Amino acid sequence: MSLIERARRVLPGGVNSPVRAFRGVGGDPVFVKGADGAYLETEDGRRLIDYIGSYGPMIFGHRPPEVTAAIAEALQHSTTFGAPTRAEVELAERICSAFPAMEMVRLVNSGTEATMSALRLARAATGRNKIIKLAGCYHGHADAYLVAAGSGAATLGVPSSPGVPTAVTADTLVAPYNDLDAVQALFQRHGDDIAMLIVEPIAGNMGLVPPLPGYLEALREVTRRHGALLVFDEVMTGFRVAWGGAQTLFDIEPDLTTLGKVIGGGLPIGAYGGRRDLMQQVAPAGPVYQAGTLSGNPLAVAAGSTALRLLASNHDQIYDRLEATSAKLCGGLEDIARRHGIPFTCQRQGSMIGIFFTDGPVERIDHVDASNLERFSRVFHVLLKAGIHLPPSAYETLFVSGAHGEEEINKTFEAFDQALAAEA
Ligand SMILES: *Cc1c(COP(=O)(O)O)cnc(C)c1O
Repeated sequence: MSLIERARRVLPGGVNSPVRAFRGVGGDPVFVKGADGAYLETEDGRRLIDYIGSYGPMIFGHRPPEVTAAIAEALQHSTTFGAPTRAEVELAERICSAFPAMEMVRLVNSGTEATMSALRLARAATGRNKIIKLAGCYHGHADAYLVAAGSGAATLGVPSSPGVPTAVTADTLVAPYNDLDAVQALFQRHGDDIAMLIVEPIAGNMGLVPPLPGYLEALREVTRRHGALLVFDEVMTGFRVAWGGAQTLFDIEPDLTTLGKVIGGGLPIGAYGGRRDLMQQVAPAGPVYQAGTLSGNPLAVAAGSTALRLLASNHDQIYDRLEATSAKLCGGLEDIARRHGIPFTCQRQGSMIGIFFTDGPVERIDHVDASNLERFSRVFHVLLKAGIHLPPSAYETLFVSGAHGEEEINKTFEAFDQALAAEA
């Protein structure tokens, strides 16, 4: 029996997180045995250029020696204590120093936990229940966020998964990302009841979609005017697009921020933080309950701290290199598509890249839905055969790491050229 057949007998869909199952592109997923730098090593003995990057954490590529050494060192002192450690204080200090809007932070175990906890805190702090979630953004799998926009531009959320009670999503209002009028309309109608608006400042869960000029500033203004909190979900963008995340790039102070991915250096972690007066309401400093047996796990903290230390020590150089490699990749892919006369848009913020088979710009989720998803699947499989592993969905972002260079980019161009030739 093949590994995928065995997997499907014991794991739903054969995987532990849905996108890995290749439903977005068809076919069977690739089983990975190991990885090094920009390359994945598969169970069937192939070496693939990796543009998944574990969906964000692997900013230096796989197995940066400093991070592996830090994990090995931490291992000498046991793997969990259930008691405070010096290392978690240092990681918290580093996070707060990079994000001026985060005066305090709480470490958790995943991005999902971070956004779920931020939601509870926002409701407690404002004494309001309604929230605004933007269609196209992803905030993990807590019930309140699993909503699909109904008909109409701005509407009440309906559950997007069985098992999510309508009563829970009734307080989730939905507007499309990058549609300011829809948000203004929600505030006009429900302003006094809205606890928070949560947004991926740079959307990375529908491919890569940057905010329209002035959009984030307007969200800051309208939330403040109505006494609602602005929550930046920077689980993906934090430390990825810049030291200090998207909020530093766009110079906007959210009330709360959620982090994950890069801050764990490849181990499971999440964090939420923000204004001191808000974070002081979290237990045991305040009454808003939130806890975690493995929170601040020493291995994850060691890996994350080391990753952030590496980024801190020469962040201009690292982000410059990521910027240069990624710009070259995006520009090159667009040139190739143009030569083949195939509608294509590459959107980018630093080392996060969205590729869409449509004429751009891609600004909202309906633009992504309207792109040529079948073509994406075909191109995905040609690239995979040629040794290049894109994320297996047109709705995911490609991640370039510090380990990607000329050689990987050029191989990607060759394979992309082949794939598009087959499309003509
Ligand atoms: C990945 C992601 C999450 C969820 O994080 P998990 O660690 O997968 O639970 C939440 N928000 C954003 C923006 C993400 O990209």
